[in-house]
Amino acid sequence: MSADPIALARDLLRCPSVTPAEGGALTVLEKTLAGAGFTVHRMIFSHVGTPDVENFYARVGTGAPHLTFAGHTDVVPPGNEAAWSHPPFAGEIANGTLYGRGAVDMKGGIAACVAAVLEHLAAHNGKPKGSISFLITGDEESVAVNGTTKLLKWAAERGEKFDHCILAEPSNIDTLGDTIKIGRRGSLNGTLIVTGKQGHVAYPHRADNPVRGITTLISALNAEPLDRGSDFFDPSNLEFVSVDVGNKTVNLIPAEARARFNIRFNDRHTLESLKKLVETRARKAAGEHIRFRFEWEPSNADVFVTEPGAFTTLVSDAIASVTGRTPQLSSSGGTSDARFIKDYCPVVEFGLVGQSMHSIDEHVPTADLVALTAIYRRILDRYFQ
Ligand SMILES: [Zn+2]
Repeated sequence: MSADPIALARDLLRCPSVTPAEGGALTVLEKTLAGAGFTVHRMIFSHVGTPDVENFYARVGTGAPHLTFAGHTDVVPPGNEAAWSHPPFAGEIANGTLYGRGAVDMKGGIAACVAAVLEHLAAHNGKPKGSISFLITGDEESVAVNGTTKLLKWAAERGEKFDHCILAEPSNIDTLGDTIKIGRRGSLNGTLIVTGKQGHVAYPHRADNPVRGITTLISALNAEPLDRGSDFFDPSNLEFVSVDVGNKTVNLIPAEARARFNIRFNDRHTLESLKKLVETRARKAAGEHIRFRFEWEPSNADVFVTEPGAFTTLVSDAIASVTGRTPQLSSSGGTSDARFIKDYCPVVEFGLVGQSMHSIDEHVPTADLVALTAIYRRILDRYFQ
């Protein structure tokens, strides 16, 4: 099989796999990996109210250690196709740059790890000293219900055990090799609701204005930081994003006031301990007089961190040996599927440069595809030494 990451990336980019469509992308992977001795499984996961999504698992080898590469072949929509200087699903190369939706997020990353694995296998009589697998979903860019979380459960039920995972998301900020992500903050949405008593503004003693109560509680929750940060994270942040009373009348005291907020939180909290902390602080500020409650939205965005150690060092050293750069170990940015993988094995994210992801003319220098393949190859060679 060809281990050319550029050809493979072009093949993948030509598949219009906008979530939840498979678009042919998993078939490209199946052909490539089955030809290299992988056992391939494709399965469709369903959930009421969400579209069915196809997922993919392929493994070669039976022993330990087991290194798995994770990723997604689905992409966000291209937006206005006329605005692209190269069509979003054509895989065109101009001046050493490959264009297309998913070029960096993350078909390019997948092409590089597949190519590196094929090279590694070819150099070792087609067999790893352990096991190598690919956990690929088609449901990352949308609701992420029928994707990685179910794929991991499916694999666990079959007895699959992973020792380490590399998620090939575009982790670098400006230049290939500048950043490995070893963690991501969690995210939690909630609404604070203060109930009062409706009445005429001229007779405030007969009413109870919830606007007073909610401003008191908002001030209290904003006054004190949730924490001072941790070894690997900045301080957690609670941000009110909307305050609503919906009152159109000036002579009416409303009955209820609501404030929505989002919390991005670090590894000093869990979803449950965080809710308790916020509720306790509100109770303290509310005293006897303010009646309030919280409505918490369901969240599957827990925090994750992989503490620096032998595995992060192995990845860092491989990056440095190819790029000459020592990557920073970062925990910034939004959530990723690593939040699910962390429950099964240590996971780090390292892939292409993220700058053009989700934008018109998403692109990747072909030199980056070649260099990223070389980095993954070094990781594999050292991991299976
Ligand atoms: Zn992505």
